[in-house]
Amino acid sequence: MSTEQVQAGQVQAGRRRLSPSRIVRAGEILELVRHGQARTTGQLADQLGVARSTVNDRVEVLLASGMLTLDAAASVGSRGRPASTLSFNPRSGVTLAAQLGISGVRLAVTDLAGEILTSKMIDIDLTTGPAAVLELVTTSFDETLRDLGTDPAQVHGIGVGMPAKIELAPHAGDADWSSEAVCAELSNWLPVPIFVDHDVNLLAFGEHCTRADDIEVLISLKVGTVIGCGVVVNGTVVQGTSGLAGEIGHTRVGASEEPCSCGNLGCLNAVASGGALARRLRANGVDAPNARAVAALARSGHVEAGHAVRMAGRDIGEVLAGVVNLLNPAVISLWGYLAEAEEQLIAGIRESIARSAQSGPAGDIRIEPATMGADAGLYGAAMMVVEHALRPTAVDSYLLTQQPSS
Ligand SMILES: [Zn+2]
Repeated sequence: MSTEQVQAGQVQAGRRRLSPSRIVRAGEILELVRHGQARTTGQLADQLGVARSTVNDRVEVLLASGMLTLDAAASVGSRGRPASTLSFNPRSGVTLAAQLGISGVRLAVTDLAGEILTSKMIDIDLTTGPAAVLELVTTSFDETLRDLGTDPAQVHGIGVGMPAKIELAPHAGDADWSSEAVCAELSNWLPVPIFVDHDVNLLAFGEHCTRADDIEVLISLKVGTVIGCGVVVNGTVVQGTSGLAGEIGHTRVGASEEPCSCGNLGCLNAVASGGALARRLRANGVDAPNARAVAALARSGHVEAGHAVRMAGRDIGEVLAGVVNLLNPAVISLWGYLAEAEEQLIAGIRESIARSAQSGPAGDIRIEPATMGADAGLYGAAMMVVEHALRPTAVDSYLLTQQPSS
């Protein structure tokens, strides 16, 4: 970890206290610099349509907070005047990210660019209940922040990914795992902005953030023990009226009567998820304990497993064809154990989409593995925090709390 991070927020000694009116709009300045739209005081003044002195006040606050740095090696202008350039310093603060899984929790501290500074896995069953799990999470965050030498005042927010309600239901009992309950518990520990979302939504958001290209519609498909997807439109995760957008795992496919955990018959999850494939292969005497084993067998050339994954791809593609016709996505990214057998899976998906969906010019939809591996969910959670914490108004509020007391 860089020393700037440890020191940021501690550089208040000797600083004068500025009135709030001299801080407002500092967030806009940070945003322009962060997105590379302005680098110097002059450019900032032009873009905002304000005087340089107005910009200077805000830049001073941003420099003191550590959020901006002045480029020491700045080029000397043609007339010998140094043209100092400003840069965003992602190490000026941190986010806390947590991914709650059915049988374990992954935690990370990231910088403000979503880069993971440290992460750990805790084995705990969600059936233990929210109080016990979240206490372990907060204790662990406390320890990690201490180890990093990071002041909790530098935490800009907490992002939490959780399984969808339907997935959680068989394990939850009477426990309240609602996002409101999780937020309440965490904000008792640290009163910062908290974002709780389905893990598939955070995967989708993280995938969107890793791509520099402007993608209007991105679908991120999780094909693991269960199937689900996240939808990002114009940079925003689509939640749906009841927060159920993307639950394609519970769309009925074909004529299957296979019972699903949701109580219906023939859901995509019951037919084509990694869990369903493993069960079916085991019934035929194949040693396939789980979704990961199914993918490994398929990759190694096991005919029956390869066929099963390809058929699953077709079933998934059948459901995705409806999504494609509805939203016309540019990218469908695949994440999860079954995606490790990408050749068979993508072939199956493509067959169904070609048969059942309208597509534009050939190759219009990119169906490809996700760009991030195991850390994708944590990255998505961190970026969700960053997205909100670095909004101009949020930055202004944050800087006000960082002002030296008079
Ligand atoms: Zn179902």
